[in-house]
Amino acid sequence: MKKIVAWKSLPEDVLAYLQQHAEVVQVDPAQHDTFVAALKDADGGIGSSVKITPAMLEGASRLKALSTISVGFDQFDVADLTRRGIVLAHTPDVLTESTADTVFSLILASARRVVELADWVKAGEWKQSIGPTHFGVDVQGKTLGIVGLGRIGGAVARRAALGFNMKVLYTNRSANAQAEQAYGARRVELAELLATADFVCLQVPLTPETKHMIGAAEFKSMKKSAILINASRGATVDEKALIEALQNGTIHGAGLDVFETEPLPADSPLLKLANVVALPHIGSATHETRHAMALNAAENLVAALDGTLATNIVNREVLKK
Ligand code: NAP
Repeated sequence: MKKIVAWKSLPEDVLAYLQQHAEVVQVDPAQHDTFVAALKDADGGIGSSVKITPAMLEGASRLKALSTISVGFDQFDVADLTRRGIVLAHTPDVLTESTADTVFSLILASARRVVELADWVKAGEWKQSIGPTHFGVDVQGKTLGIVGLGRIGGAVARRAALGFNMKVLYTNRSANAQAEQAYGARRVELAELLATADFVCLQVPLTPETKHMIGAAEFKSMKKSAILINASRGATVDEKALIEALQNGTIHGAGLDVFETEPLPADSPLLKLANVVALPHIGSATHETRHAMALNAAENLVAALDGTLATNIVNREVLKK
């Protein structure tokens, strides 16, 4: 019987599904040596949110497939997996709409100061009718700049254009004709997007090219009234430069779901800033979507081990080997 290592706890029905196909060994990734030892005689692996390094796969000669319960795969060295002949599968699409909802809640919460003012009410500070010091800014009719308009960026663009009458600008290496047609999205250079957008929303994958793509120079080129929204990966933004930009009023605010270090350390200066909405990486975190992702990842893994997986493959080249 095949052996699968799971380094994330799985919903009962998903675990039962995997157990119909293989012996499933559940490991705690914090127990590093036990985890690595389990990989050594496994055929497949499933999990998320843990960096899987080439060193961890040394001697894992049976390993044929890894399945991440996420769309992002920056925690893997894909070239190394391909060299080893290991298929990497991920879960695009099932999480797109929930993640776009999170992005939009960050846009609304940042613009309308929802978290800050809700905390103010709970603290018993609401003693008379509010005035301009408590006003936010409009979202509807404003310009949204999406850096990386793919699946999630497209679902954000739909909400923005059709729901909030926003103008949508975007940068991608290639055009997204569907978003241009359906939402009037306009592809521009990053410089134009940064200079024009009221909300700058990052939805690129984390790669060597996108690491720290928004730093001090980019913040300076944004409007003083601009709000940065990041639900991609923390390291697409130079967090030190972001903190400075927020402290100095270079930009107006930020809505953040992701951080360079997660969990965000309790002493992060970001947590002291009223103009920051910080979420604990909840992009796809609804009961329905997390279940769909786990099931999708389990199905991907079983199909990959059977040699029948046709979609959701990150390193398709491995199949040609
Ligand atoms: P996707 O469909 O692949 O979209 C990514 C977009 O980024 C594409 O339009 C791509 O267009 C663009 N892009 C890639 N590299 C670029 C570069 N160097 N410069 C400019 N644009 C670039 O992926 P998705 O499903 O929307 O997911 C996007 C990312 O969101 C994931 O990789 C993940 O890191 C993050 N995410 C976060 C959460 C969360 O919980 N916060 C949840 C889900 C996903 P081109 O290829 O044409 O450049």
